[in-house]
Amino acid sequence: MRQSQLFTKTRREAPKDEVAKNAQLLIRAGYIHKEMAGVYSYLPLGLRVLNKIADIVREEMNMIGGQEVLMSALQDPNVWKITGRWDDKVVDNWFKTKLKDGGEVGLGHSQEEDLVRIMTMHASSHRDFPKAIYQIQNKFRNELRAKSGLLRGREFIMKDLYFFARSESELADFHERAIEAYLKIFERVGIGPRTFRTFASGGSFSKFSDEFQMLCEAGEDTLYLNREKKLAVNKEVYNDEVLEELGLDKSELSEEKGIEVGNIFKLGTRFSEPLGLRFKDEQGKEQPVLMGCYGIGLGRLMGAIVEALGDEKGIVWPETVAPFRAHLIDLSGGNAEVKKEADELYRELTEGGFEVLYDDRDLRAGEKFGDCDLIGIPLRVVVSEKTLTAGKFECVERKSGKTSHLSTSEMLNTLSHA
Ligand code: ATP
Ligand code: MG
Repeated sequence: MRQSQLFTKTRREAPKDEVAKNAQLLIRAGYIHKEMAGVYSYLPLGLRVLNKIADIVREEMNMIGGQEVLMSALQDPNVWKITGRWDDKVVDNWFKTKLKDGGEVGLGHSQEEDLVRIMTMHASSHRDFPKAIYQIQNKFRNELRAKSGLLRGREFIMKDLYFFARSESELADFHERAIEAYLKIFERVGIGPRTFRTFASGGSFSKFSDEFQMLCEAGEDTLYLNREKKLAVNKEVYNDEVLEELGLDKSELSEEKGIEVGNIFKLGTRFSEPLGLRFKDEQGKEQPVLMGCYGIGLGRLMGAIVEALGDEKGIVWPETVAPFRAHLIDLSGGNAEVKKEADELYRELTEGGFEVLYDDRDLRAGEKFGDCDLIGIPLRVVVSEKTLTAGKFECVERKSGKTSHLSTSEMLNTLSHA
């Protein structure tokens, strides 16, 4: 993509009321637009990153047997009244709105009840289970505090998967596979080394839930981490009894701040039972269906990556989620020969299958480099009079600052092997 054609511009200052590093950088670089507190729109660069994260999440969910759906964001109160969750005292952050005829609807904040009802129309035999069903969809929550940019939105994008099992062991098996898949996702998006499975409060069915916490000073959660065992305990359940149960020793734990990037729960029959989702076993006897739910906030994940990897100059994307693979900077400054060379390199890299953001704008070098650092694409490639004379292009890695001088074929080779 030619940067001269990109409708978004970078800016020097973030909005004054924006205190979170992730939002400041993403807004300044033109990835997102702040509509109001906790509500952001994704602009072309931001949507590219979001889609890459979504692709990775999708691949891993499909690998563990997930079937993708897209459920409506408007929710029918009737099904939630059956489980007792329509009550504002039970779910206190639900946006609800009135219909013209006097009825009410909810705006999707989670979808257990809605999906269970769908399942009752399709599954009733032991042969119909187990099933894993997921979606990637906008969620709405009336969060009290929304000052953390993409980390805590009032509208945000979540992957929510629901698992339907015939037995506790079937649920437990899937649970472990989902944990592996989650760790793979966090590895692939570049936060693997700093993201840990964390025991947290479990809700109704099991003693613990599994959170995935990315270590970060900006995080809201406090955890106690055993690095060697790659396990942590959320402060909310941290006590001597729990440590003993998990085989963790106080002296081996460090106190850390974390951002919860994923959360999984065993739900048991909490929703299936009241909504009548059962199956007939091989003897023809009706049995309850057990459930688990598995969430990842895609926007929060994007914000977390920026929080964790960004530096004083701007964003630093891992290659797997970067909006483009290379940022090509034309420093021709009116030299037609250099410009031609830059155009040619852009064509070759693009035809080689690489996504390139081509800064073909008529701006000073300092401005171009500043934007380049802010936008955070992994590789900067410079074409200038100097590189033309040398016959090699200057390539600088955004993350390490490592510089090399490469010909077109060397660059194509490096890009395809990275
Ligand atoms: P939190 O504890 O942070 O309030 P939660 O436990 O209520 O979140 P879940 O309902 O388990 O969150 O949602 C699954 C995932 O969705 C979370 O792990 C997080 O990544 C993401 N998420 C939840 N709330 C938000 C939000 N307000 N903004 C962005 N992402 C969110
Ligand atoms: Mg949580």
